[in-house]
Amino acid sequence: MTALCNDLTTLSRINSDFISRDRQMLIGGAWVDSSAGATFAVRDPSSGKELTRVQKASVQDVDAAVVAARKALEGKAWGEARPAERERLLLRLADLLEKHADDIAELESLDNGKPISQATGLDVPLSVNFVRYMAGFATKIHGRTFDVSVPYAPDTRFFAYTRREPVGVVGAIIPWNMPLLMAVWKLAPALAAGCTVILKPASDTPLTALRIGELVLEAGFPEGVVNVITGAGGEIGDAMVSHPGIDKIAFTGSTSVGKAIARSGVDTMKRISLELGGKSPVIVLDDADLAATIPGIILGIFANCGQVCSAGSRLYIQRGIYDRLMAALGDAAKSIKVGPGLDPATQMGPMVSAGQQRSVQAYIEAGVAEGAELVVGGGQLASEGFYVSPTIFANTDHSMSIVREEIFGPVLAVQCFDDEAEAVKLANDTPYGLASSIYSTNVNRIQRLTPAIKAGTVWVNCHNIFDAALPFGGYKESGIGREMGEEAVGLYSEIKSVCMAVG
Ligand code: NAP
Ligand code: MG
Repeated sequence: MTALCNDLTTLSRINSDFISRDRQMLIGGAWVDSSAGATFAVRDPSSGKELTRVQKASVQDVDAAVVAARKALEGKAWGEARPAERERLLLRLADLLEKHADDIAELESLDNGKPISQATGLDVPLSVNFVRYMAGFATKIHGRTFDVSVPYAPDTRFFAYTRREPVGVVGAIIPWNMPLLMAVWKLAPALAAGCTVILKPASDTPLTALRIGELVLEAGFPEGVVNVITGAGGEIGDAMVSHPGIDKIAFTGSTSVGKAIARSGVDTMKRISLELGGKSPVIVLDDADLAATIPGIILGIFANCGQVCSAGSRLYIQRGIYDRLMAALGDAAKSIKVGPGLDPATQMGPMVSAGQQRSVQAYIEAGVAEGAELVVGGGQLASEGFYVSPTIFANTDHSMSIVREEIFGPVLAVQCFDDEAEAVKLANDTPYGLASSIYSTNVNRIQRLTPAIKAGTVWVNCHNIFDAALPFGGYKESGIGREMGEEAVGLYSEIKSVCMAVG
């Protein structure tokens, strides 16, 4: 059993120090305890054991963070900082993330359970690149000028232009699947645009957000520009959403909480961006290059233990290649090395929490009960950790919960199709629209399918490929707004029109 638990004696000095005492929250440039004096446990998903404790913030702590963030927004040090200064600070933050890449990757793996190879190779470098990419936007935010033709003032000349201004105090509420990356997806564009931020990480994975708080101070951001508070989403997250002192909520997480946030945020007419769930289709046409397709499908569903909003969880295979591809996928899934995140050989770690493990297990049982054919996996591993083995179901259909609902775990639901029209119909038969992928070597077929799929991203001959420049977000119930790319800066700015009568 213990073979599946992390060996904590190998932790870096900086991380063993980090977890050796209760972590405080960052409010107004100072590390503070919860005003209620409460803390909660952070667990190692490979063993279920307590790693450390963090503060359980109260609604009063949210008020304090809002006061600090508002003061920083209106203060000289940040409110009047030139764009080049914001750029310099963000570049410094990116450099610090890069300098501490190994330690941060280890902390992320420890907290979330993801393989250290993935934290090192993907989460941290994507985060560093993204902060650098967004730093550049601080000096490239601009308005436009207009020659206006005001019909009722024919004798007056006007000089008219727009300026982009920071939206104000941002409440960023993030999930546990990619904690570091989700934190910087919110922080970097908000800071580039000149906002101040209150960041609330998920209760299951608060550690790297708190570590970012340390690096923000080291980078030299003025106090109160970034605040990090930890606590229950239903209490402090909710208090952030209804708080009149917060101008915008940027949320990533479940569609149900996203909908509740949108409803409650409307009372104060908050700016709201939502990156929610998905049930992303993968379409494999019968001319696909299977050698390249198999690793794409496997990465698409089993990376991060399937805990990815854009996971390719519905697989549609054209009939002629169905048997061959299914046999190869079964072999590939069986060969995935499941183990504790900190083991360099691990390819898939445990789920993030006991609750998530139970939820995925219940979906697997529902799939069997609804008549799907279990091809591979289907069980928890014999361990105290929150493991679920890579699982593939064949003979599924759209009446089944494993096809309709987001599982957020390593479970792939497969079915067969005959022609392109059927593939499009099946792919779009979902309330979600976050991502999708098409595997084919025929550019005409690819170009026919791409516009027909209702999703914010279409990957071709790959899946789960992200870059700072590419906007990411959902159609339909997968969200509102686009993160990354220049679109992300727009989420954190207001447009002001100025019209000046010229004598
Ligand atoms: P969740 O409940 O939506 O949590 C996401 C974030 O929202 C966390 O920081 C959470 O805080 C906070 N939160 C929870 N209730 C809130 C409320 N009423 N008001 C404001 N904030 C609130 O997601 P989850 O429970 O962790 O995961 C459930 C499902 O969400 C997953 O199975 C998956 O379907 C989906 N999910 C999607 C993504 C994505 O990237 N799109 C990521 C993770 C999960 P606490 O952690 O303190 O509860
Ligand atoms: Mg939750």
